[in-house]
Amino acid sequence: GTLKAAPDGTNPPATQIGPKERPEPSDELNNVVALFMGDITTLGVGAAVNAANKRLRGGGGVDGAFHRAAGPELLKECEKHSGCPTGDVVMTLSFDMPCSKIIHTVGPVYHSYPKDEAERLLASCYTKSLQLAAKTGLRSIAFPALSTGIFGYPNRDGAAVALSATRQFLTGEGKGTMDKVIFTVFLDKGKDEKAYKELIPLFFPPV
Ligand code: ADP
Repeated sequence: GTLKAAPDGTNPPATQIGPKERPEPSDELNNVVALFMGDITTLGVGAAVNAANKRLRGGGGVDGAFHRAAGPELLKECEKHSGCPTGDVVMTLSFDMPCSKIIHTVGPVYHSYPKDEAERLLASCYTKSLQLAAKTGLRSIAFPALSTGIFGYPNRDGAAVALSATRQFLTGEGKGTMDKVIFTVFLDKGKDEKAYKELIPLFFPPV
């Protein structure tokens, strides 16, 4: 893409960001995708996805929330892994959390990559998380807005990448594997919420 955030940090309007062609409306797909406003660590889903860092040793933001909710055993299990490359995924047990498994994924630090590369890496986080959940037989997954916090990915662009990768998965290799794909938005002054509310109907148009 060639779109750039304006100097004041606002993103271009949604109409410039949606899918290239209007996707085929599908009730079946629309019933899978959901938006949740709140704390991802409270959800009893198959897989809850954590926005981790490369060292997998806990951190701030949603990562901190996962470690607080799961308890100290999560850090011990993460310490068995040498880390996780950007764009990749690692699955752990969920300990005290209500989800079945945690998928830790490392989104790109937005300003460390050319825009196309950041987009490719962020899409990879969503796709690999969905693949791993499906491979494990988990039929529901919840994502935070990966990379859009401390890692600085523009909210609306990040939402478009999430929805595009998810649609591609659900209509391709992952057809029929997921009952629910939940996008969670939290503490972002409504920016992620607004982005998802505008973009979901573009990527998953009403029938
Ligand atoms: P990153 O380092 O990938 O940018 P952050 O944790 O800083 O990750 O932020 C990612 C997104 O997760 C942000 O939109 C932030 O508002 C959101 N977030 C933070 N805590 C929670 C939570 N408990 N549940 C859901 N989303 C959360």
